[in-house]
Amino acid sequence: MHRDAWIAAHGPCVYCYGTDNLEVDHVERKNKTIRTRDIWRLGQTRREAELKHCQVLCRQCHILKTAQDNGHWPLSIEDVDLFWKLKKLGLKEKRLAGALGISVSRARNLLEGMSYRRGEN
Ligand SMILES: [Zn+2]
Repeated sequence: MHRDAWIAAHGPCVYCYGTDNLEVDHVERKNKTIRTRDIWRLGQTRREAELKHCQVLCRQCHILKTAQDNGHWPLSIEDVDLFWKLKKLGLKEKRLAGALGISVSRARNLLEGMSYRRGEN
Protein backbone atom coordinates (compact mmCIF):
# COMPACT_ATOMS: atom_id res chain seq x y z
CA MET A 1 0.00 0.00 0.00
CA HIS A 2 1.38 3.37 -0.90
CA ARG A 3 1.34 6.65 0.93
CA ASP A 4 -1.82 8.18 -0.48
CA ALA A 5 -3.80 4.96 -0.12
CA TRP A 6 -2.59 4.47 3.46
CA ILE A 7 -3.50 8.01 4.38
CA ALA A 8 -6.92 7.67 2.75
CA ALA A 9 -7.53 4.47 4.73
CA HIS A 10 -6.35 5.92 8.06
CA GLY A 11 -7.48 9.55 7.86
CA PRO A 12 -8.77 12.08 8.57
CA CYS A 13 -6.46 13.86 11.04
CA VAL A 14 -6.78 12.07 14.38
CA TYR A 15 -6.48 15.39 16.25
CA CYS A 16 -8.79 17.80 14.42
CA TYR A 17 -10.53 15.53 11.87
CA GLY A 18 -9.23 17.80 9.13
CA THR A 19 -8.98 16.32 5.65
CA ASP A 20 -6.49 18.73 4.01
CA ASN A 21 -2.72 18.26 3.76
CA LEU A 22 -2.69 14.90 5.52
CA GLU A 23 0.63 13.37 6.54
CA VAL A 24 1.99 10.26 8.22
CA ASP A 25 3.16 10.70 11.83
CA HIS A 26 4.89 8.35 14.25
CA VAL A 27 2.66 8.30 17.33
CA GLU A 28 5.64 7.77 19.65
CA ARG A 29 9.01 9.02 18.60
CA LYS A 30 10.74 6.10 20.34
CA ASN A 31 9.14 3.73 17.83
CA LYS A 32 10.49 5.65 14.87
CA THR A 33 13.19 3.66 13.11
CA ILE A 34 13.06 5.43 9.76
CA ARG A 35 12.10 8.81 8.34
CA THR A 36 8.44 8.89 7.41
CA ARG A 37 9.15 9.64 3.77
CA ASP A 38 11.35 6.52 3.52
CA ILE A 39 8.66 4.12 4.74
CA TRP A 40 7.34 3.64 1.22
CA ARG A 41 10.67 2.31 0.00
CA LEU A 42 10.64 -0.55 2.51
CA GLY A 43 9.61 -4.08 1.74
CA GLN A 44 6.06 -4.97 2.72
CA THR A 45 6.83 -6.65 6.05
CA ARG A 46 8.97 -3.86 7.42
CA ARG A 47 6.70 -1.20 6.01
CA GLU A 48 3.65 -2.68 7.72
CA ALA A 49 5.57 -3.03 10.98
CA GLU A 50 6.58 0.63 10.83
CA LEU A 51 3.09 1.81 9.89
CA LYS A 52 1.65 0.06 12.97
CA HIS A 53 3.28 2.89 14.94
CA CYS A 54 1.92 5.64 12.71
CA GLN A 55 -1.18 7.78 12.51
CA VAL A 56 -2.54 10.41 10.15
CA LEU A 57 -2.22 14.07 11.08
CA CYS A 58 -2.91 17.17 9.04
CA ARG A 59 0.10 19.37 8.44
CA GLN A 60 -0.92 21.92 11.06
CA CYS A 61 -1.43 19.36 13.80
CA HIS A 62 1.76 17.58 12.75
CA ILE A 63 3.80 20.76 13.13
CA LEU A 64 2.23 21.40 16.51
CA LYS A 65 2.89 17.87 17.73
CA THR A 66 6.47 17.86 16.43
CA ALA A 67 7.12 21.22 18.08
CA GLN A 68 5.78 19.94 21.38
CA ASP A 69 7.78 16.71 21.04
CA ASN A 70 10.88 18.84 20.50
CA GLY A 71 10.07 20.91 23.56
CA HIS A 72 10.14 24.12 21.58
CA TRP A 73 7.01 25.69 23.04
CA PRO A 74 3.36 25.03 23.74
CA LEU A 75 1.83 26.75 20.72
CA SER A 76 -1.90 26.60 20.06
CA ILE A 77 -3.44 25.34 16.82
CA GLU A 78 -4.61 28.90 16.19
CA ASP A 79 -1.03 30.13 16.48
CA VAL A 80 0.17 27.49 14.05
CA ASP A 81 -2.59 28.51 11.65
CA LEU A 82 -1.61 32.16 11.99
CA PHE A 83 2.01 31.21 11.46
CA TRP A 84 1.18 29.55 8.15
CA LYS A 85 -0.72 32.60 6.96
CA LEU A 86 2.12 34.93 7.90
CA LYS A 87 4.69 32.61 6.39
CA LYS A 88 2.76 32.65 3.11
CA LEU A 89 2.97 36.44 3.17
CA GLY A 90 6.75 36.06 3.32
CA LEU A 91 7.34 37.33 6.85
CA LYS A 92 10.78 36.54 8.24
CA GLU A 93 11.50 34.99 11.62
CA LYS A 94 11.79 38.29 13.51
CA ARG A 95 8.37 39.51 12.44
CA LEU A 96 6.84 36.06 12.85
CA ALA A 97 8.18 36.01 16.40
CA GLY A 98 6.66 39.42 17.10
CA ALA A 99 3.29 38.46 15.61
CA LEU A 100 3.10 35.26 17.63
CA GLY A 101 4.65 36.57 20.83
CA ILE A 102 7.42 33.97 20.78
CA SER A 103 11.19 34.31 20.74
CA VAL A 104 13.07 34.67 17.47
CA SER A 105 14.83 31.36 18.08
CA ARG A 106 11.47 29.64 18.50
CA ALA A 107 10.23 31.22 15.30
CA ARG A 108 13.39 29.97 13.59
CA ASN A 109 12.79 26.47 14.97
CA LEU A 110 9.29 26.54 13.56
CA LEU A 111 10.53 27.71 10.17
CA GLU A 112 13.13 24.96 10.15
CA GLY A 113 10.51 22.45 11.19
CA MET A 114 8.38 23.57 8.30
CA SER A 115 11.09 23.20 5.71
CA TYR A 116 11.81 19.76 7.10
CA ARG A 117 8.11 18.93 6.90
CA ARG A 118 7.94 20.00 3.30
CA GLY A 119 10.66 17.46 2.58
CA GLU A 120 8.44 14.73 3.94
CA ASN A 121 5.96 15.04 1.12
ZN1 LIG B 1 -5.28 18.20 12.29
